[in-house]
Amino acid sequence: MKARDAGSVRIVDVSPRDGLQNDPADLRPETKIELVERLRAAGAFRVEVGSFVHPERVPKMADTDVVARAVTRRSADRLTALVPNLRGYERAVEAGLRHVRVVVAVSEAMNRANFGMSPADSLAAIEGIVDRAGRDGVRVAGAVATAFGCPYQGRVDQEAVIAVVRRFADLGMDEAVLADTTGMAVPSQVRRVVEQAIRAAEGSPTEIGLHLHNTRNTGYACAFVAYEAGIRLFDASLGGIGGCPFAPKATGNVATEDLASMLERSGADTGMDLEALLTASAWLEGELGHATPGLVAKAGPVAVDVYEGVAR
Ligand code: ZN
Repeated sequence: MKARDAGSVRIVDVSPRDGLQNDPADLRPETKIELVERLRAAGAFRVEVGSFVHPERVPKMADTDVVARAVTRRSADRLTALVPNLRGYERAVEAGLRHVRVVVAVSEAMNRANFGMSPADSLAAIEGIVDRAGRDGVRVAGAVATAFGCPYQGRVDQEAVIAVVRRFADLGMDEAVLADTTGMAVPSQVRRVVEQAIRAAEGSPTEIGLHLHNTRNTGYACAFVAYEAGIRLFDASLGGIGGCPFAPKATGNVATEDLASMLERSGADTGMDLEALLTASAWLEGELGHATPGLVAKAGPVAVDVYEGVAR
């Protein structure tokens, strides 16, 4: 992997989880395994391979054990999965994963819809997972869902978002990923919240990341102001597929290839192979049997030297 510097951006591709859990297509485990391997080969910093949620809650993630087992057999490097509780954590470790993600929604309504408990109870469960993972030598990253607004209750308390970031930092977690679960954020708000979150995590091992959905076409603008504010860790999904099954009218993440293209052309080093991503994106459309929202795969990449003044 290339050396990381201040201009380097890490993209976590969440399409096998956030993307596929809400897609009308039902991909076979073998296809999901190929998706993960294509993303790893294209240089994704990490790939979220699935969710160890109860199969009855998210039926499309019922094969996560099979997928995770297959992809960790070669290497557990650069892989993660969502674990909603200690049982999910145990399944992830049994499947060979050495990195997991936990999530809490700052919105009471969203957390109850998603996990059937209050945010405080979710945080207590997360503490148990972090404690166990520490003893197992497994790394844990945390996501803060509905960090910019909630489809059920509207406003979320910005202080509550920062309080979760502080809690994650106190627990020594790898990452605190602020998630705009249903694409409600606007750039000015993102700048304000990420600046506050970065300050809150200062001096801790916790890096602030951003998970954006392009539901209202603000995803890329939000990503760029966050980049300017110092964020170097982004979630995205190949083709921009996805959405949350517990949030009404949720649509896909920012597309990995579109985000990588924009940031690379703005001077960042994502470590990703854009050609490989575009090939994978076209392959994914074929497997899903429907068009995906990403635009660079349709329009084609821009040669890096077409415009004078482009950073690289
Ligand atoms: Zn999401």
